[in-house]
Amino acid sequence: HNLLLKGPPGGGKTMLARRLPGILPPLTHTEALEVTQIYSVAGLLPEDSGLIAQRPFRAPHQSVSLAGLVGGGGLAPHPGEASLAHRGVLFMDEAAEFRRDAVQALRGPLEEGSITIVRGRWSVTYPCRFQLVAATNPCPCGYSGDAVRQCKCLPGRLAAYAERLSGPVIDRIDLQVEVDRLKKREIFGREPGEPSATVRERVVRARERQQERLAPFGVATNAEIPPPHLEEACRLTPEAKRAIEASVDTSGLSARGVHRVMRVARTCADLSGAEKVDFRDVQDALSFRMLDRKR
Ligand SMILES: [Zn+2]
Repeated sequence: HNLLLKGPPGGGKTMLARRLPGILPPLTHTEALEVTQIYSVAGLLPEDSGLIAQRPFRAPHQSVSLAGLVGGGGLAPHPGEASLAHRGVLFMDEAAEFRRDAVQALRGPLEEGSITIVRGRWSVTYPCRFQLVAATNPCPCGYSGDAVRQCKCLPGRLAAYAERLSGPVIDRIDLQVEVDRLKKREIFGREPGEPSATVRERVVRARERQQERLAPFGVATNAEIPPPHLEEACRLTPEAKRAIEASVDTSGLSARGVHRVMRVARTCADLSGAEKVDFRDVQDALSFRMLDRKR
């Protein structure tokens, strides 16, 4: 599922994003071949190196051009950051600061999982099935809603900033998470969190369940379930269905929002190993829709 992290500077958004590849399942042999081919075409593969075994993590700068992000070039076409992130993570820090045309160009890749570059008589297609992680500050200065520091932004700029985030990319993000500033105790605390390896095992099992259940629908992950198959593929209990219907009435969840909630709720159920999606999974999924709630 694509992910948006929203919070003040220093909240650990970048650190969280960088940890993500560590909890994703290891690359399969086929995936490793795909990734290695892209890096080879891009001229980024060191001589004598074998298959790339790690899931890619790409973090392009906000000033990246359209061609740099999705691929292009004149006589010699090259894959962009979106393809270099294939089977891995594309991290867009301060997503609102990226060039508008470059962000718009991500719409196709996010939907198709590939990008075709056409130049006159020839065309070339690069795969780009990545997990998007976008991070954003709550406002240009970073401190809107902060308990300690005061926001210095003018109201007009706040609205313009929120506007820049809307559109084709945000529409394709399933998980919206608010990341608060870490307290000193959390930074220096000794309480160990759950190690990545343990989380990864849970993710691997959840992915296996998805693959098995979704094989008849021709997709591998819940995030890819096409709307016509959602009802059949998600397996909701009557209580879960009622919980979704209720949120349409109370918080005006859109049709697209309903689809996202169903997919995320299915993933919550898969993570706990449940056959059916119950209303608690739906509640968890609804908690990842903060931008809808504030609209
Ligand atoms: Zn501000």
